[in-house]
Amino acid sequence: MNIKFKKKFFFFEFPKSILNSKRKFNYKKGWIIKLNSNNSINDGFGEIAPLFDEHISLCEKQLNMIPENINRDKLTEKIYNFHPCVQSGIKSALGEIEGIIKYKEKYKFNEIHQSAILVDSFSVIEKLKELKIQYKSKPRVFTIKWKVATKENKIEEKILEEILNQHENYIKLRIDANGSWNRQCANRWAEILSNNKNLDWIEQPLGIDDIEGLYELNKKIPVALDESLLKYPQLINSWHGWQIRRPSQEKNPLKLLEELNNKNSLKSLSSSFETGVGKRFLFHLSYLQLLGSTPKVPGLALKQMPNTFLFKNDPKIIWNNL
Ligand SMILES: [Mg+2]
Repeated sequence: MNIKFKKKFFFFEFPKSILNSKRKFNYKKGWIIKLNSNNSINDGFGEIAPLFDEHISLCEKQLNMIPENINRDKLTEKIYNFHPCVQSGIKSALGEIEGIIKYKEKYKFNEIHQSAILVDSFSVIEKLKELKIQYKSKPRVFTIKWKVATKENKIEEKILEEILNQHENYIKLRIDANGSWNRQCANRWAEILSNNKNLDWIEQPLGIDDIEGLYELNKKIPVALDESLLKYPQLINSWHGWQIRRPSQEKNPLKLLEELNNKNSLKSLSSSFETGVGKRFLFHLSYLQLLGSTPKVPGLALKQMPNTFLFKNDPKIIWNNL
């Protein structure tokens, strides 16, 4: 099968900086790609956008090595050792052309309780109070994804106490340390939260390389791996706790699609701040996740994204406006 390969660059700024314990995200850049072939009625769209800006120049160099007309098998051979994001975008576009990904017309994730609500230690209490007032007459369970290690630990432990005392009946809690805690600190939080019914999991509590510590901690409390999975993708096969999966950052998101089609448990979907093209795939996978044996709302960060053509649900609109 011969493929026509086209790419367009994009750049956008977040309406408000996104903060975690390690980084501040102010903007995002990458490429939208479009593949088509005479053998297929569908075009295939993909997004290539590394979460970390320092990977952009490598992706650019590799994308420039792909000719506009290329045989399908040559293309997959060529990208075999390329950056995971380049592989992800191309494989998802091929998956669309080949009918492996069957997108639906519409996905329902726009309501506030259908995705995790992203907060940091500066905003969490205020946000919870706001939700309590706003949804007083129509109670819902909200999933809060709290970026910790953004303030001093003793202050954050106080915040946790306040959350558990005052807001516990309408929330699910995901606590994301982005690898910033040491074992001692993680153990303290594990003790406070042991047997807590509000907790979904603690996300990447320990450093990316402390796999042994993460295994030990997972015996006491649900631990979700995030950054460790990006650095050591083979952990996808051996880590039996929760896994935060980022289709746009994985070298073969079609494997993730297959895992979800097989109703594999303990996988949760997360945004890496994609445009509408990456978001469409994320929606599709999140929809499948909810049909599985351990349904959990995805972390889509929809409220953090700008409101421009780049975030439309139809990839053709995005492509034609770029
Ligand atoms: Mg995380």
